Amino acid sequence: MTQDATKNPQHTDPMRYGLHNRYVFDGRLAMKTGLHIGGGKVTLSYSDSPVVLTLDGLPFIPGSSFKGTLRSTIEKIVAGLPSELGLHTCGLPTDEQPKESCPTARQNEIRKQRRDHADEIDSMMKKERDKLCHTCQLFGSPFAAARITINDLYLIDDEWSGMKEIRDGVAIDRESETAKSGLKYDFEVVPSTTVFGLHLVIENATEEDLQLISIGLGEFVSGFGGIGGFRSRGLGACILTDLEIRRLDLTVGNETERRQRLQQYLLLREKSLAAIEDVSAFFEQHINALFEKTAANQ
Ligand SMILES: [Zn+2]
Repeated sequence: MTQDATKNPQHTDPMRYGLHNRYVFDGRLAMKTGLHIGGGKVTLSYSDSPVVLTLDGLPFIPGSSFKGTLRSTIEKIVAGLPSELGLHTCGLPTDEQPKESCPTARQNEIRKQRRDHADEIDSMMKKERDKLCHTCQLFGSPFAAARITINDLYLIDDEWSGMKEIRDGVAIDRESETAKSGLKYDFEVVPSTTVFGLHLVIENATEEDLQLISIGLGEFVSGFGGIGGFRSRGLGACILTDLEIRRLDLTVGNETERRQRLQQYLLLREKSLAAIEDVSAFFEQHINALFEKTAANQ
């Protein structure tokens, strides 16, 4: 039954709510090594490369940083899957990829087409949106808003000693890629064992979205995730623990039940969501679904 929520909800939901389902993920992101996310105000720090801090002076992980690292973690894995599994990613292209079907990878070409066909932009853009790869659908692209939102990650219970470490680095000459003699810089690091709260929401998730998030969060739960800068120096290793998943599903049950669920949701918001009891079974279910679909097609 739960699968139904993610199968083309636009076509199967007779109530035509704009909202079909909502998945909320909460967990603790614990640093296993130091963390550096740059972008702090240089003028307020003794370091060349300070870490980002909240207005209260506490380190945090911007939601956009976690979204970026989650997306690239997922893209790396999906790009390596057999194509017949049906999950597709265009990657995060820096150059035009004319052979790629995802419009994100063909932005210049599409811009040109828009100019040439100004009278049919709407139908043209709709056609392109339908070709978006699965990671662009979940994480967003210039063609469609993301279905996933990730809040900034703040310290849990302010569990932080207030200490930042300063690490030394050697400045690298960009042209020769060798160390510039005598040139040193330093950067701030938030110490390992710092724990941040993760809150992530997917709205109107498709089955593919749930497969992608199971793949991605699975990496972080297994301790293979990474965040921030200087990762080649071993910084940014982290593990996601105490993961909880809650769900609102407006596509199952009869009309009265759906209405009640929607009403409860509007009154109580996330407090009304149903907890998924077994998080690893949830991941297993969606990763298995990815492989079973192919087996059924063969
Ligand atoms: Zn794409």
